[in-house]
Parts: sequence; structure tokens; C-alpha cells
Amino acid sequence: MWLKGKFFLSGEIVEACVEFDTQIRNIRNNCKPDLETPNDTIVVPGAVDMHVHVRGMELAYKEDVTSATKEATYGGLTLIVDMPNTSPYVRDKKTIKEKLSEFEYYSRCNYGIYSGVPNEGENVEDMPIAGYKIFPEDLWKKETENILKNSRKLKILHPEVPLYLFRGTRLSWMELASLYMVSGGKRVHITHATTIDTIAISKKMGFTVDMTPHHMIVDGERDCLSKVNPPIRDITERNKLIQGIHEVDALVSDHAPHAKWEKNMPYEVCPPGIAGLSFTVPFVFSLSFKGIISLGRAVQLVSTNPSKILGIKYGEIANEYPANFTVIKRENWRYHTVFSKTTYTPMDGYPLDARVYMTIVRGKVAFLDGEPLPVKGANVFDKNS
Ligand SMILES: [Zn+2]
Repeated sequence: MWLKGKFFLSGEIVEACVEFDTQIRNIRNNCKPDLETPNDTIVVPGAVDMHVHVRGMELAYKEDVTSATKEATYGGLTLIVDMPNTSPYVRDKKTIKEKLSEFEYYSRCNYGIYSGVPNEGENVEDMPIAGYKIFPEDLWKKETENILKNSRKLKILHPEVPLYLFRGTRLSWMELASLYMVSGGKRVHITHATTIDTIAISKKMGFTVDMTPHHMIVDGERDCLSKVNPPIRDITERNKLIQGIHEVDALVSDHAPHAKWEKNMPYEVCPPGIAGLSFTVPFVFSLSFKGIISLGRAVQLVSTNPSKILGIKYGEIANEYPANFTVIKRENWRYHTVFSKTTYTPMDGYPLDARVYMTIVRGKVAFLDGEPLPVKGANVFDKNS
């Protein structure tokens, strides 16, 4: 298929034609296109979210693979990587296979999954996973040490010290302190940094680091809607964190949906987590249209860099790369979720300047002008797929 439009190629916007099947085969100035994108759109490399809680399995009442991946394509995402803290917990061969088969049947975009830190005696290193998620409570485990030392795969750390679990406090030094507990580890990535210091120290220690839009823009007043782990910091810290958009390697959603009745519970008992899978991509391109960051920087944050961190050939429009594209339209609108089971999010109504017009996954249109289409995604961490 030939796609004609304005592409973001080698750092600039150019009128071009790209031929692809599941991979990009040819890039030319002119062609007889099978599909043409509207004039007010830009085709960028398929966006990636490396931190998503799809839920599924016993937690499918909160979100499942179909609802999450439809929402993902509405948000311009062509690849999402799922977290293991589900029910059952994904950290052995059996649960990894179960989780992957849910994605294999239902995913409308490309996917990957992280394993949790396995129990002693369990080894999942050869499974087709993206890497390991290390939670604060894992930091004391012997197996975590083993993974940090010996695994070739990505280790993605939720940066807080385990202490908070017992005292209920979540101070920002606890985030910084946790970085030293993984020092010396290879391929360590720090996720959802909430302070500018965490970003700076992570980079100094040789780690890659990401942050979420909600830690920058949501007010952390004591309501369940904005209750999240790690917590949203005060306004001074948040204002400093906004500068992090020039420093971090990637942006992630940390989409963590809950049922409405759960978020309606009193603050002390309601579960932490903010939903907003489809927010990150329009948000980052809005920043670019406002002139806060360049278009190239927006592409880096949601496409090129997360692909590099994940260690996959992805996130570029070039020959022999997989044919995943996100088509961005300049438009003023107010954000809302559509396909996710969770409609409640603190970003609801947030004014944006960019919208996703089309999402192409493995060479097929997975979302077009408001409508998701039934496309089958692949596990990009499975060498046989
Ligand atoms: Zn998370």
C-alpha cells in the first residue's frame, strides 16, 4: 500500500509517499497513493507507551485488552507495554503465557508485557517478555539482586523505598533514595519520576527515565480521582517538573484504570491510579504546536526513545522498519476517554491543540477519524511473531 501525506522524515516535515506491507518498503517523493492523509495532518512514527496497566484476567471489570487497546489506537498508540501487578500476578511461565494469550486474541495494537520479579527458583528470562517491573516491595528481594546483576532484559523501577508501605508517607527523598538501591544494574529504567531531582540523578547514574503528563499538570488535592502512586507533588515541585519535558527520555501514561465504584470510595480506602491512556500523544504534540518543544522532541518522547529503551527496531519511518504510523491533526478540542472502561480521569476536559486522526498498526488502519477498526497486534518481543 502507498500512503501519501506530510511525513516527519529525518527531522523535518516533507510531502512524501511511503510504501509498506507490515514493513516499510519504499519512500519516494511521488506515487499513485492507495490512501492520502488530509492536508492539516502530519504522519509521525507509531507512538509507544512503555507503562500501561491493561488489567484484564480477574481485573477485567476495570479494563480488558479490547477496551484498552481500542483506547490506545484512539490515542495514537501503536504499541503498549503492560504491567504485571494484576490478579493473578504475572511473574511465572504460566501467568506470562496466560497474559500473552489474552493479548494475542484481543489486542488491537502491538504489545509487550513485563514480568514481575519472579519468586525464588522461577526463571522467566527466556520468555518473550519486554523485561521486569521492579516495585518498591521487591527491592529487598534476593531475586531482584539476581535480575539486576544477570538479566539482559530491561528492568523498569517504580522509584520509592519500601519504607512507605509501613509508614504511609510518600516524601520525595524516598523516590531519590530508591535509585541507589538499584545502582550498578544494567538496563535500568526509572519510571514516573515526580521531581526534577529524580530525573537529574537518574541520568547521572546512567539510567534512562520517564515521567507522566499527570505528575506535571494535575492538582493533587485529596480526592480519589487524583490519588495515584507515586503521589502528585505540590505546585512548586510540579512547576519544576514541567522543565523535565526537556530532560526525560520518554513520556508514559501509567494508565491505571479502576471501576467507578472503587474511585467513589472514601479517600483513605479508594485505590490509587489515574486513567488516561489516550492522553499522552495528543498532549505531547499539543506542546509542540504551542512551541514549548519541537516536533522532533515530541517524536523522541513518545516514539524514538521508548523504542530504544525497549531495545526494539521501532519508532522510525525508514526502510525495513515495521509499518506503524500515528497521524496527528492540528485541532482545538477538550480531552475525554472514549473506549476505555474508565471514563473518570482528572485530565477530562483538558484543552488540547492536537488530535489523533489515524493510527496504522502493522500496515493496517487501526483507527480512523473517531472509529477503531479490528486490527490484530503482535508481541514485538517475540522473535517468532
Ligand atoms: Zn504503573
